[in-house]
Amino acid sequence: MNRLLIIGAGGVSRVATLKCAQHPEVFDEIILASRTKSKCDAIAADAKKWFSQTIQTAYVDADQVDELVALIKKVQPHLVVNVALPYQDLTIMEACLQTGVHYLDTANYEHPDEARFCYAPQWALHERFQKAGLTALLGCGFDPGVTNVYTAYARKHHFDRMDYVDIIDCNAGDHGYPFATNFNPEINIREVSAKGRYYEAGHWHETAPLSIKKVFDFPGEIGSKEMYLLYHEEMESLVKHYPEVQRMRFWMTFGQSYLTHLKVLENVGMTSIEPVLYEGQEIIPLQFLKHLLPDPASLGARTVGKTCIGIWVNGEKNGDEKNYYLYNICDHQACFQEVGAQAVSYTTGVPAALGAKLLTSGQWSGQGVFNVEQFDPDPFMNEIGSWGLPWQETFPQNFIMKD
Ligand code: NDP
Repeated sequence: MNRLLIIGAGGVSRVATLKCAQHPEVFDEIILASRTKSKCDAIAADAKKWFSQTIQTAYVDADQVDELVALIKKVQPHLVVNVALPYQDLTIMEACLQTGVHYLDTANYEHPDEARFCYAPQWALHERFQKAGLTALLGCGFDPGVTNVYTAYARKHHFDRMDYVDIIDCNAGDHGYPFATNFNPEINIREVSAKGRYYEAGHWHETAPLSIKKVFDFPGEIGSKEMYLLYHEEMESLVKHYPEVQRMRFWMTFGQSYLTHLKVLENVGMTSIEPVLYEGQEIIPLQFLKHLLPDPASLGARTVGKTCIGIWVNGEKNGDEKNYYLYNICDHQACFQEVGAQAVSYTTGVPAALGAKLLTSGQWSGQGVFNVEQFDPDPFMNEIGSWGLPWQETFPQNFIMKD
């Protein structure tokens, strides 16, 4: 039985669940569990209506290992897909270890009290997963996820040596709000307001938040946009697995309205994760801000425009210097028509669903804790287009990303 348990019922989960529901030949049964069961029921109702698939739903608090263990024992899935929040990664991994079930997620563990992005706590579980004969696949969304597959694919098919790798993430969508985030606001703002960091010549270099920018001319009628250097988690695993790379950076585009609002919110302390006492009650300003902002899962209907996420590599093949740009373009409204979600949820949920398929079918397998680039990129690249995220490649003659 290829029974799948999906945990979390936000925007990413909606897409991952509905995409899995489109593939009954892979997943015999899907169980969707989260903290607010009514959100699971709403996704299950759409799976029934649109794809005639029955999805069972359940309540679980994924911060509680004993609750997770009880649910996994009852459901007996082959694989757990964690699309809740990064705070739950370790409890869900622990529950998988205790019950002998494979694991997949889309974002690295974060402690709620500390905005620190690193794989160490999850990599530390490698031996336990190995001994148990289980696979844990980390970061199988778009970035991390597809960007890791793209890097592995570039190295396998186009380079003898990769020197410079730039991951470039553009969301040119417009939701019409002065300020909203396209995925969980708390996670998004923690990521964007953290110090920037890039890797060069064997060392990490820190920069002030959003202090380095560059203009990039995006394909697919998106055109010229300013993008900012950020730290992003996939760089940690990619520099580990490709030590030849001299420099790796991550860039993301932001509109002026988003940046201005973020600056003001930061200046008044609303993005802080330090608790403050308000009328006798302790509150965390960022969590309160999340409460005020639009739910990312509600943005789908009103978001128009496209995303373009990809990698730009400079390196050497057969003694010649070469540039390679590999990317996906995704249209917000097309995503909404298909699964009722905007493109940021879609570009994350589709790779999670395909990753679940490759683990379930055994096309990706291994014992231990893995990042996506450690598996063969070809089965993923062969299928991701038909799952909804086609890719394009070019071999630019200019060297704009080398500076
Ligand atoms: P949402 O906030 O929309 O959804 C999160 C879901 O997790 C909600 O249903 C929430 O429940 C549930 N949840 C939170 N805490 C618990 C808990 N203790 N027990 C059970 N369920 C819980 O987030 P997104 O869908 O936008 O993001 C989901 C994940 O995807 C995040 O980890 C995010 O970092 C990651 N992501 C990865 C990307 C990539 O490219 N790799 C890009 C974008 C996101 P409730 O409804 O009750 O709040």
